[in-house]
Amino acid sequence: MSSTPQPVLPEALQHSLHSFFGPGGLLSRAHPAYEFRRGQLQMAQAVEQAFQEKRHLIVEAGTGTGKTLAYLVPVLRSGKRVIISTATKALQEQLFSKDVPFLEAAIFPQGDQRLRVCYMKGRNNYLCRKKLYDLASQPILTGLEEIEQYSVIQDWEKVTKTGDRAELASLPETSRLWEKLDARTEACVGSKCSEFSRCFVTEMRRRAAESDIIIVNHHLFFADLAIKRAVDAAADAGVLPDCGAVIFDEAHELEDVATSYFGITISNLRFEDLIRDVETMLRQAKLDGRKIVMAANRLRERAGTFFSLLPAGNGRYEFSHRAAFLEENGEAYLLLRRALEHLKVEIQALPHKPEEAHSFVRRVDELSVQLSFVLEQEDRNTVFWIERRGDSFRRRKKSGDDAFASSSRMVFLQATPIDVSQILRQVLFQQLETVVLTSATLAVNNGYEYIKGRLGVEQARELVVPSHFDYASQALLWIPSDMPDPPAPDFASQVAEKIGTVLEITRGRAFCLFTSYAQMHQVYERLLGQLDFPALLQGQAPKNALLEEFRSTPNCVLFATSSFWQGVDVQGEQLSCVIIDRLPFAVPNDPVVAARVRAINAEGGNAFFDYQVPSAVIALKQGFGRLIRSLQDRGLLVLLDNRVIKKQYGKVFLNSLPPYRRAKGLAEVIQFFE
Ligand code: SF4
Repeated sequence: MSSTPQPVLPEALQHSLHSFFGPGGLLSRAHPAYEFRRGQLQMAQAVEQAFQEKRHLIVEAGTGTGKTLAYLVPVLRSGKRVIISTATKALQEQLFSKDVPFLEAAIFPQGDQRLRVCYMKGRNNYLCRKKLYDLASQPILTGLEEIEQYSVIQDWEKVTKTGDRAELASLPETSRLWEKLDARTEACVGSKCSEFSRCFVTEMRRRAAESDIIIVNHHLFFADLAIKRAVDAAADAGVLPDCGAVIFDEAHELEDVATSYFGITISNLRFEDLIRDVETMLRQAKLDGRKIVMAANRLRERAGTFFSLLPAGNGRYEFSHRAAFLEENGEAYLLLRRALEHLKVEIQALPHKPEEAHSFVRRVDELSVQLSFVLEQEDRNTVFWIERRGDSFRRRKKSGDDAFASSSRMVFLQATPIDVSQILRQVLFQQLETVVLTSATLAVNNGYEYIKGRLGVEQARELVVPSHFDYASQALLWIPSDMPDPPAPDFASQVAEKIGTVLEITRGRAFCLFTSYAQMHQVYERLLGQLDFPALLQGQAPKNALLEEFRSTPNCVLFATSSFWQGVDVQGEQLSCVIIDRLPFAVPNDPVVAARVRAINAEGGNAFFDYQVPSAVIALKQGFGRLIRSLQDRGLLVLLDNRVIKKQYGKVFLNSLPPYRRAKGLAEVIQFFE
């Protein structure tokens, strides 16, 4: 990857970082509410140094540091084109719509110039014009809902400049029609497309190529990296342009996201989508494709049989006996592969093929190669597993699509890398001069050994930025010593009792965060009817709606699991307490976690201390991090798992948390709220 030529720096950026961030500096002159934060300046200096020395940097900077500006300013001063990757679309949006304009106003107070910043989402967020036009000539819509959505999208296409579905507030998140119209790679014919020059993806790439800062999310970044890794480097693959450096905000999420994109997923849904797209092509091109239809039907039938033979189970479970499975079901597997091959031959034999026929041949080939990898390949660094999910597949059946009608569930065959460190080292850290990893939760025991090992970072500058908050006076941590161990039969009832007691003291205003749905429901049901405060339960409404209700309902209590442990920001008294039921160890029988544990132990490590404890430390820091979001926030943290004080490993957790004041007993908690 290469850097772009150095542009001339705006005058405001030419002086020292101190004169920008420091007391009386440009930021404080531009915005009277801006306050000097030593940690922010320290982080900005570290990022700048990393750029200058062409080194990687790992920096933990807690909430309140102002870390976004601390990397944005050195990025602009570097003169390089930099990709900034955040964890979610919401954070991307915040960076683009809040932080960048704030900085822009400080740098160009006259408003006469703009920073060259763009933000990109995954291709499935954008409309494919070709698909929309094709559908107009041969509408294959299912039900009134789709017909209405279609007409909304048609009108919008004429006026939108971005093609980003986020502009369509009325379009449901789960719109089946959008899936037929989005610009995902599989069905795209690229530069051969008649709409290529007007394509929203082409436009997005053009904007990115002209920008100094490109804001993406981790999913897009790694999807792009995985595509570029999978194809010939010379091919015009992916959507992200070359860059001089990458900054990963919320970098504690990288391992999980990278893992999901460097693996392979084959599902019954993928077969169904392929067949549906082939059939659509035939209808739209008005081709006589009787042979293809027969081949597609055969593939549909054989895929249905094959997926129905896969080992039964619920949720996520390891597919450990693949050889035995193949021995028993070799014929079904062979017939499926032949059906794939047959479909490809028939597509290739089609006279006057439309352009997209080539992309179907590519998709069939890819499916075939991946299928044989997932079923036949032996690879020490890969865990093979199955996942079964319910709902949306049923939705498809209801919508009249009879594909795999015998199966009511989505079945995913997965091949997942156990350790992504080597891949990341090769495709990321050895390719770029500077990668900055930052988050409020990266350090374990004040060090970065864990994150470096998991992500494959060999050499990097390291910095832990001191917090801007005074945790010792703002937060009180209580770990009741009289709780049973989590496996004890009365643990849930004791959790409910303690939560009831604490909520009386805090007058609600709390997040009760659980490590499992089962425990969350159990405790919620026990407390229902006993609580004097309004209670919300995860799942009752979408996440954002629940959060909005929590913010606007006095004394509200929210019962939630993992998705509320991070990326949630409720400032002020409304959230005055965070209660966590137990240490957030990853589920040990999850196939990927179990494979990692086995691999670390097999290599002579100690998976518990090298992997399970550090990853739980980071999750706990995230969960507790919901409480103190500003200098004015004050509140109580409760951990109902006292293994943290009884077990030797508990010290790692306690040493890694911010310096909260520790309550010796309930009396101190009561006093804190008086
Ligand atoms: S280039 Fe690809 S995504 Fe763009 S309009 Fe054409 S087919 Fe759709």
